[in-house]
Amino acid sequence: MTALFGLDLRGRRVVVAGGGTVASRRVRRFLSEGAAVVVVAPDASDDLRRHAQHGDLEWRDRGIVEEDLNDAWFVLAATDDAGLNDQVAAWAEARRVFCIDASDASRGTARQAAASTHGDLAIGVISTDAPDPARIRAVRDALAAHVDAGAVDLRRHRDGTGRVILVGSGPGDPGLITVRGRQALAEADVVVTDRLGATELLVTVPYDVEVINVGKSPDNHPVPQAEINRILVEHALAGRTVVRLKGGDPFVFGRGGEEAHACIVAGVDVEVVPGVTSALSVPARAGIPVTQRGVATSVLVTSGHAGADRAAVAAMVSGATVVILMGVSALPEIVAAGLAGGASPETPVAIIEKGTMQGERVTRGNLADIADNATETGVKPPAVIVIGDVARPELLASEIAATP
Ligand code: SAH
Repeated sequence: MTALFGLDLRGRRVVVAGGGTVASRRVRRFLSEGAAVVVVAPDASDDLRRHAQHGDLEWRDRGIVEEDLNDAWFVLAATDDAGLNDQVAAWAEARRVFCIDASDASRGTARQAAASTHGDLAIGVISTDAPDPARIRAVRDALAAHVDAGAVDLRRHRDGTGRVILVGSGPGDPGLITVRGRQALAEADVVVTDRLGATELLVTVPYDVEVINVGKSPDNHPVPQAEINRILVEHALAGRTVVRLKGGDPFVFGRGGEEAHACIVAGVDVEVVPGVTSALSVPARAGIPVTQRGVATSVLVTSGHAGADRAAVAAMVSGATVVILMGVSALPEIVAAGLAGGASPETPVAIIEKGTMQGERVTRGNLADIADNATETGVKPPAVIVIGDVARPELLASEIAATP
């Protein structure tokens, strides 16, 4: 019978006998758990040597002796010599230090769990009888996938302090939220959402999670930012976990900075979960690399709300890629500013509406004709405008993309 415990190895010495592939793999895990690792082996893998050079661990390049176990909290016997592993396990036993015997898990006094971490949760699986690593890994993988898919209700049941998690949901395709974003949704007592982004994900939250929609739509007035801030802070102060779900990345034209600030001044814990911003991902999904060797080495992301500012015009003229969000209604002004500033009328332009979502559409042209093309096709927000040579049609299929 084996008991499963969570060991806090941070800063505690873990002695590893052996320097081969098995030792390397396990050492990486001990390091990620914050242990002070000492590897004792006459030879070590490249990976272990690199860790030793970086000062991540101490490597004693010789055969192990009993004294190496001094001050150890935990021992791993992972040499390629089963007899030596048994010897190390016996030293550990005599010193009452737990030891994993990598050559035969049933002979040590501890077993390595197949583990994974998910935010502040760890999943560990062991077998209590005959060791069978592939089997426990299969169970771990199934459990981990379940949690990462947001399929487990991760709300806290103990009263705790409330907090706000600003989550970027990506451009719209629900597959483009991050794993941490998905977990955060599963932890939420309250979700405060916009209209943009992967709002489809909200169908997966349990019925008793309060969903507050503060997004603007044609038939309702936008909730003022100060009111949104107040909602976030109030729910968190009442002890709830509040997820603020935002399109793209919370800190790219998302007013996430103001929301984070409101939480900080109110003394509310705030975590920012970055998202896949539409500025880069919407062009990418449409086959437009915002930088490309030999074509564009810089990219400027700007708001087109009030037309094109000096930086945007300068970027258009210099041949940098200009990505414009919120620029549909001011498109004619943006184009006119670029042309007046000296950008070539031939500069390619692509407008991607509803990027990564059902109904995605790309309208193309150049600075001279894009405004007319957009009127003709009836371009509507949300849309990303890309100005620059990377926006030329079929760039990736052309020789230009092969420039060494
Ligand atoms: N924080 C968001 C941007 C919010 S500003 C992000 O990082 O993506 C809103 C603007 O983003 C829209 O006006 C539009 O220009 C752009 N946008 C967001 N999602 C989009 C999508 N799926 N397709 C095209 N444009 C999108």
